[in-house]
Amino acid sequence: LDPTGENFSSEELDIERALRPLSFDDFAGQDQVLENLKVFVKAANLRGEALDHTLFHGPPGLGKTTLAHILANELQVGIKVTSGPVIDKPGDLAGLLTNLEERDVLFIDEIHRLSPIVEEYLYSAMEDYKIDIMIESGPNARTVQINLNPFTLIGATTRSGLLTAPMRARFGISSRLQYYTTELLSGIIERSAEILKVPISLDAAIEIAGRSRGTPRIANALLRRVRDFAQIKGTGNIDMEIARYSLKALNVDAHGLDEMDNKILTTIIDKFKGGPVGLSTLATAVSENAETIEEVYEPFLIQQGFIYRTPRGREVTELAYRHLGRIKGNNQGG
Ligand code: ADP
Repeated sequence: LDPTGENFSSEELDIERALRPLSFDDFAGQDQVLENLKVFVKAANLRGEALDHTLFHGPPGLGKTTLAHILANELQVGIKVTSGPVIDKPGDLAGLLTNLEERDVLFIDEIHRLSPIVEEYLYSAMEDYKIDIMIESGPNARTVQINLNPFTLIGATTRSGLLTAPMRARFGISSRLQYYTTELLSGIIERSAEILKVPISLDAAIEIAGRSRGTPRIANALLRRVRDFAQIKGTGNIDMEIARYSLKALNVDAHGLDEMDNKILTTIIDKFKGGPVGLSTLATAVSENAETIEEVYEPFLIQQGFIYRTPRGREVTELAYRHLGRIKGNNQGG
């Protein structure tokens, strides 16, 4: 269960696309963010202007890409999609920018991974809708400035703190996405089940939702796996029994913590006496990179009350001991 979706097969990506809400009305949760965006879109539409550049930040799978597409739909404009690491050099970016029609959206996922030269090149495009391009080469080489159509850059990143200050300052709108409640996720699961044409009972939807790590991408992925079990081991319908059976077979624990979540907690308890332990030491101990721990795993573990940050590092809470069936002070396990 990959919250980043990076290891999804092309078939899984197709299904993910099919399940993606297309309008504000289809999008569940993030009420405050949505309310503001509706106002900004309405105003931009009324004035016939491009929407201000918009930054979405938050852990993977919470709907940043989805919102970028929804904004383009609601603005009734086209969208071009790319990502930070894919744009090699300013020329690649120039190609994208000069092909944008008036008010179009350019979505850059993982915008914190743009190279510094590309990032700098983007500044004047964002600010004045102008870029310099190099024409000819050798002794005749010179740069000319060209005007771009007014456009909206939508950037997505896991944490806004990963962006440089000048980049952050160029976004007029910046929204942080939050983890979803079980109630919202069960609504999302019911909607997805309808699209996938698989009957699901309310209690089963709630059961799957509660184990989805607060993340719609995981909720949808679990639903698809449970659907497989229902088809092969059951009647095709998803009820509580088949949901519980499948979740057990998938090794999803009661809080929806995955293997790495649990590894982080047990490592802090077993190797560091419950903490505090510094991020890089922890990263080495669990063989995961520090950035991923900080952006993907830790925010959920903190939000769920399993760990907290102190000036000296990460510590696990009483709840983590209880969740793992351990007794505090007895590090051999309970
Ligand atoms: P991110 O870009 O933040 O990693 P995505 O926008 O790709 O996340 O969302 C992952 C999946 O979760 C998509 O398939 C989308 O259908 C679903 N999803 C995300 N947010 C919502 C939501 N609020 N309502 C319904 N489905 C959602």
